[in-house]
Formats: sequence, structure tokens, C-alpha cells
Amino acid sequence: MRGADPGSHGVVLVESREWLSRRPYHRMRVAAILLAQRSFAAECAQEGFEVRTLQGEAPMVQQLGEFAAQHGPLASTEWAEREMRSEFKPLVAEGVLRTVSHDGWLTHREDFAGCRRGKQWSMDSFYRAYRTRTGLLMDDAGEPIGGRLSFDTENRKSWSGKPAAPEPPRYEMTALRREVQREIESRFAQHPGELDLAAIPASLTECESLWTWAKQACLPHFGPFEDAMSLSSRGLFHTRMSPLMNLQRVEARRMVQDVLSMDLPIESKEGFIRQIVGWREFVRWVHLETDGFRDAWPSATSAGDGGFARWSGHVWKPAGATPRGVDGGARPRALGSEAPVPPAFWGAPSGLRCLDEVVASVWREGWSHHITRLMVLGNLATLLDVDARDLADWFWIAYMDAWDWVVEPNVMAMATYGAGGVMTTKPYVAGAAYIDRMSDYCSGCAFTPGGDCPVTPLYWAFLERHEPQLKSNPRLKLPLASMRKRPAERRDHDQRTFVHVREVLANGKPLVPANFLPLG
Ligand SMILES: Cc1cc2nc3c(=O)[nH]c(=O)nc-3n(C[C@H](O)[C@H](O)[C@H](O)COP(=O)(O)OP(=O)(O)OC[C@H]3O[C@@H](n4cnc5c(N)ncnc54)[C@H](O)[C@@H]3O)c2cc1C
Ligand code: SF4
Repeated sequence: MRGADPGSHGVVLVESREWLSRRPYHRMRVAAILLAQRSFAAECAQEGFEVRTLQGEAPMVQQLGEFAAQHGPLASTEWAEREMRSEFKPLVAEGVLRTVSHDGWLTHREDFAGCRRGKQWSMDSFYRAYRTRTGLLMDDAGEPIGGRLSFDTENRKSWSGKPAAPEPPRYEMTALRREVQREIESRFAQHPGELDLAAIPASLTECESLWTWAKQACLPHFGPFEDAMSLSSRGLFHTRMSPLMNLQRVEARRMVQDVLSMDLPIESKEGFIRQIVGWREFVRWVHLETDGFRDAWPSATSAGDGGFARWSGHVWKPAGATPRGVDGGARPRALGSEAPVPPAFWGAPSGLRCLDEVVASVWREGWSHHITRLMVLGNLATLLDVDARDLADWFWIAYMDAWDWVVEPNVMAMATYGAGGVMTTKPYVAGAAYIDRMSDYCSGCAFTPGGDCPVTPLYWAFLERHEPQLKSNPRLKLPLASMRKRPAERRDHDQRTFVHVREVLANGKPLVPANFLPLG
């Protein structure tokens, strides 16, 4: 409660079951929110603020409206979440809820305004503009420290087990954790996912201890292994700070300051700072500017379930009716992809070890790192023409750090190309060779990456199917030319593989090499 005076200000928090169960969120996501909120309440009380927590089934807007009618107008910092802005719009319009600007963001609208290139926003230009304007990681002559603005090309090493990857800290089962555990197992029992309260930092001291761990154990090796994936370490050198940053438990600004003052290899220092002042801020601007892609695409009328009903066999029942004005988000389909999220994303074995391992880890932890999201989950969904909206809903449901402003651009624009090239120069798709090079998933898989693995034919089939939409893209000139050179029987096999894989996975069945399509 920076800048507020306990003598004149109080704190009102809302726990609405309607909001917490609007989608079938992972239990870890619900737990992270409740732990953060209740810890924050205790910290405010300790600082001398009077704290009121409203708890109930009703939507947040209703609970706050009733409270304000009794006690007078309230103020809130601006919401990054579009869904919250829609929900609270009537209270803001009535003057019951006043918004004050949020000082948690580092970049300005002008940094973003200048990064438009035709129909596209460029993260590189945005990042360059911010670094030039602020002098961040720049020397006295105005040149980037290390001689280059981005060390992206140094962030692509695979990991063979050395240096040893750190284990994330675990936390004591305090009274608060036991209380939240009991509550989730009773009031939120229908929510999917495993629950491991000891893995989520709650108090400010615990949040700080995760950041200390991240600085000491992760950041020295963060850069080189940023794109690596492994069965023996799910997180590798990733910091797991996103849930805390998005809940504002640890401030991005301070994290950047801390990293600047550390003695780190430049590819780690620049690589980490780029993720925060580059990607994190950039996607938030894209979401704001496009109104969550509603500027170009129609919206779904209500919150999606990301495939929950198809997988579980029963319809998701939220605790109450969604407030008026809240929709289900934009439904961009630049490539015309409209297949539903297959049950494999909910844990039905697909037979593809890369997919099954990452999905299992997500339902265990409510988290996985960036490359698993982009190059396993996003890649396979894109190759199978999965609908970007359905996939974004799945990510929103399954990940602890998911909020509309960050999950929608990452899924609907970056991972699937659903919104077209608004923020990336090409779809992020790859065959088995990439997964084999960057991970150890393929050893032990029933398929072999250079042989019968279906991911590579799926890649070629994707390029062929979407050639009309992609042929003017200069970055796809070479892959498209290679695709066209493939012999006719290979191309036919690629297309039949696509049809077969999609059908088997849509039915919730595993792919088995023995009954896989032979070539020709
Ligand atoms: C398909 C897909 C969905 C994603 N959904 C989310 C989401 O719901 N919430 C979320 O916070 N991030 C999301 N990301 C971005 C990124 O994967 C996560 O921020 C990161 O994996 C979080 O783990 P970490 O804290 O260990 O990150 P680290 O690898 O340690 O990176 C440090 C920080 O950089 C920021 N960051 C890095 N990349 C991005 C990015 N592309 N967008 C926004 N912030 C970024 C995050 O705040 C992260 O904590 C998504 C990426 C993809 C490809
Ligand atoms: S062989 Fe293919 S399906 Fe198996 S893990 Fe590797 S890329 Fe995935």
C-alpha cells in the first residue's frame, strides 16, 4: 500500500466464487490467488490499515457495489485485465469506483506507438526504443552494452545435465496454507489439476526468497539454456517469477534494477531483461491496443472451457452467472483453424512423449516454461489447426500465471498465428528435429524423430495446407520452397498423417506406431 496512509485509507478485498470458478481453473491457480490475497490482507493489517475481505458466491462487481452503497466510493489501481475492466465498468461509470494509474509498468505508450511496421507491431523496435530512451543496458556513447541489442542467438543451447539445474524452494505448511488447502478441496473440489501448496510462495518474505533463489541459482545460467527442455528438470534455469509478478507480489521494476546490478554473463543479463521490459510489456500493449484482438475479430459470447467438457464428459458449471458486459474474448482465425483442443491437453495419453510429458507437468504444477508452451503445446496445436480461442482458454485455465492481457497475445498471436502477423513475423512451427535438438523427450518415445514421428509430416502438411495464406511471407519462402520439392507420395503421406493424427487425438485415443500410416 505504497503512499497510502492507514489513518485515512482502508483496504477492501473481494473473494468471489463466481469469479474464481468462471472457468475450470487449475487448483494451483485458485490457490495462488487466495494465498496472495490473504497474505496481502495480513500485511496491510500489520501496517495498520483496516482491512475488509468480502467473501461470497456473487460476482465481484455485485459485492463491491453493495459495499460501496453502504460505505461510500472506492478507488482501485487500473486493471491490466480487460475482463476486470468490463466487469467494473458500471461501477466506474456511476462514480462508485475511481481508478488511479498503475505504476507497476515500465514502458510508455510512446515506446509502443513507434514500433508499428505496417500492420505489425515489432517487439525488437519496441525494445530498442525503450533502451535508447532510458539508457537501459547502454554505454556512455549510447551503444548497447556488449555491442549488440539482443543476445537472442546465444539463448539456444540444449542442456545435457550440466550445469546442474536448481530445485525450486518449498515452503512450510503454515496455517494459511492448510486453510486454503481445505477450502480448495471442499469449495473448489470440481476444479482440475493437482494441488501442492508447499510450492507456492505466499508471504512477502517467501516471495522474496523465490526471487533470491532465482537470482542466485537460475540467472547465471539463464541465457544459454533459455530454449532447452528436459525431462530431468522441468524448470531448468527459468525463474518461475511470472505468477508473482502478475499478481504484483514482486515488482518488475525492482527485478530489472536488481538484475542490472548483478555480475552476470551478458547473454543472461540481457536475455532476462528482454523478457521483462521487452516481451512482457510488449504483449500487454498489444492487448490494450487491439482490445484483446476484438478490433479485428468477433468475440465469443461467454467464457470458454478450453475443452474441459469434451474431456471430462460434463459441462463446467460456474458458481454463478457471469456479470453483464463480460464476454468470452476474441476468436481470431487468420489461418481458418477451428479444431477443438484435443483431450490430450487434459491428460488423455497421445502417445507423443513431448506432448504427454509437458501436459502432465502442467496439470501437476500449473506452470511450464516458455519453450514448452511455445514449441511443444503451441506448435502441436497449430500443426493440428486448433482454434486459437479454445487454446487460449485452455492456457488461461491451466496456468497459474495466466491473465487475459498476457495469455491471449501469447497464444492467439504468437503461438498459433491466429491473429495473423500482428506481432510475429511468422508462425512458430517446427518438426521433430527441433524438439529432438532442444530436448531429451525423443529418447524413450515410441516414435523416432528422424523416422516414424508424425510431428515432421504434420509440419509439412501445415505448410501445404496454409500455403495460400503464407506464400507472401518472405520468412517462409525457403520452407515453402522445400515443401513444394517434396515428392508427391511424401506430400500425400503428410496430408494423410494430418487427417489420421487429428482424428485419433480428437477421439481421445493414443497414437501407436504399429497402427500408424505407412508411407505410400
Ligand atoms: C503459448 C504461451 C502462453 C503463455 N502464457 C503466459 C501467461 O499466461 N502468463 C505469463 O505471465 N506468461 C505467459 N507466457 C510467457 C512465458 O512463457 C512465461 O511468462 C514464462 O514461461 C513464465 O515462467 P518464468 O517466470 O520462469 O519465466 P522466465 O523464463 O524466468 O522469464 C522471466 C519473465 O519474463 C516474462 N516473460 C517472458 N516471456 C514473456 C512473454 N512472451 N510474455 C509475457 N511475459 C514474458 C515473464 O514475466 C517471466 O516471468 C506464455 C508464452 C507462450 C508461448
Ligand atoms: S519422437 Fe516425435 S513425438 Fe516423440 S518426443 Fe520426439 S518429437 Fe515428440
